[in-house]
Amino acid sequence: MKNNLSRRLVELTRDLVLIPTSSSHPNNIERSIELIKNHLEETEGITIQTYHSHGIPSITALPKNQPKPDVLFCAHIDVVSLPEDAFYRSRMENGRIYGPGAADMKGALAILLEIFRDIHARLPDASLGLMVTTDEERGGDYGVKFLFEEKGLRCGVAIIPDAGSLNEITIEEKGILHLAIRSHGPAGHACRPWLVDNPMERLLDCLRQVKSFFNEMKKGGGDHWYSTFTVTIIRTKNEAYNRIPAQVEAICDVRFTPPSTTEKMIEILKDKIGKDMELEVLISAGTSQFSPDPLFISVTEEITGKPVKLCKSHGASDARFVTSLGIPVIISRPIVGNIHSENEWIDIESMSTLYRIYEKYLLRKLVK
Ligand SMILES: [Zn+2]
Repeated sequence: MKNNLSRRLVELTRDLVLIPTSSSHPNNIERSIELIKNHLEETEGITIQTYHSHGIPSITALPKNQPKPDVLFCAHIDVVSLPEDAFYRSRMENGRIYGPGAADMKGALAILLEIFRDIHARLPDASLGLMVTTDEERGGDYGVKFLFEEKGLRCGVAIIPDAGSLNEITIEEKGILHLAIRSHGPAGHACRPWLVDNPMERLLDCLRQVKSFFNEMKKGGGDHWYSTFTVTIIRTKNEAYNRIPAQVEAICDVRFTPPSTTEKMIEILKDKIGKDMELEVLISAGTSQFSPDPLFISVTEEITGKPVKLCKSHGASDARFVTSLGIPVIISRPIVGNIHSENEWIDIESMSTLYRIYEKYLLRKLVK
């Protein structure tokens, strides 16, 4: 390993990857919060507070007597649910750490924890806070949304390394809708299909129609910046090969671009799906725009020696809860790949580079 910083970041990332923090392991989520608290406890001049909302934990570490820090680091420790037999361990290859959650976002969290301690050691009373939540992959309602909207957490600028890349700073995110579309009808015997209006086949026809409507909208959208409709689950309780099922359900993931709003999208979908089907909205979030700090952009360019590209993100993140309060958000991260798979990876050198970017930015921003 090249140097101390790089070694510390790698060790901490790999320690965090070892704890399976998907929503199906609530005890491990609590353990990971303890690990982070242990890591921060020695830092002088900060107050650590643990919260629980609907049983979901989160923590804040804020400078003493400064409830509204100039800069707030935000991270989530939860990872997306992987198949039951997934291995929560990491390996090193080609200058990368591979493992579940290495990229989204335990590697980034390791950087935040290290630079947080370092800045507080060097600048007593630095106006720098940190929050770690545990439900980003499930919508963020009991983490970032809870802390900002119910607990009144505020900051000058939030740093959320959960999208973009080292030289790609995110300025816009698509909106999101998760829907259940259900088709009901009398069950029947498959040997006399003419007697039954098969709910399974009606649902499939409906999904095809909605899909072709979204395909039409693709035209003209460069960089895939258009609204999409994706079926992710189709299920029925029926187990019999020769039975026409009484109820079928499809779960769909819709991503939409401005100027569409959540309300407008739901209206369009209701119209396309028709009255025959039941439509339930499971999760919804509007599109977001961010205004990154120009100082952060110039520091990124200085450290990397490359221009910054302001880009749009297809995924939605917790940043939407922060930007909706008018707080500027900075979203960039190390170089990563294969997100949400067991083979997720993070590039180690880019972790150190992002650390140096944060260091320079904070020293300029916070030293008055
Ligand atoms: Zn994430």
